[in-house]
Amino acid sequence: MPPTKELSRTLYNHPMPPAPLTIGVLALQGAYDAHASVLTTLGVTPLLVRTPDALAQVDALIIPGGESTTILKFLERDHFFDALSDFVHTKPTFGTCAGAILLAKQVANSTQRSLDALDITVERNAYGRQNDSTILSEGTSLPGGPLEMVFIRAPRIARLGPGIDTLASRNGDPVLIRAGHLLAATFHPELSNDTRIHQLFLDMVNASKISGQ
Ligand code: GLN
Repeated sequence: MPPTKELSRTLYNHPMPPAPLTIGVLALQGAYDAHASVLTTLGVTPLLVRTPDALAQVDALIIPGGESTTILKFLERDHFFDALSDFVHTKPTFGTCAGAILLAKQVANSTQRSLDALDITVERNAYGRQNDSTILSEGTSLPGGPLEMVFIRAPRIARLGPGIDTLASRNGDPVLIRAGHLLAATFHPELSNDTRIHQLFLDMVNASKISGQ
């Protein structure tokens, strides 16, 4: 009998091709379509996640910006909060703006429930009326020069827990951070033409798949 594909790979030491990744985008409210387009640009087919069943099919998740109070209401109404909380505690998740607020352990202005996964305190709508929506270009620790950052009624990360890496800041406030399997931005990378942040997230997802997490 000829060796199976798997066996011949083992025999001849050919690595298995990586299984295609399924990246979900939480699609209850907010800028989920723009994230889905960036993923498509990067060659990944996104899955719009609206139910716990859909969540069970994805390797990783993006929680978009929007209005965190509204997303929270939908999560609670649809009995989706607990499944999402379990997911984000172990699987790669990228939260942008309202998504970062939902991932935080503590939310201020005003206090609200959150998924309690990322050890930060975020202050909602923290940049004041005049400055609450703005586009800046800032350096990051990623290669490729300054990054355009679109802030829309952005939260401020007021406290960072231990072991969290800051990849970019705005006037000293962290705006792009990473903690293990979690990535969070207080701005909207999906609204700029620069795909570096999404690529970084895909690299994190690939690395966690290879290490079997
Ligand atoms: N101000 C929104 C909130 O508190 C976040 C804004 C955004 O996601 N662009 O949820």
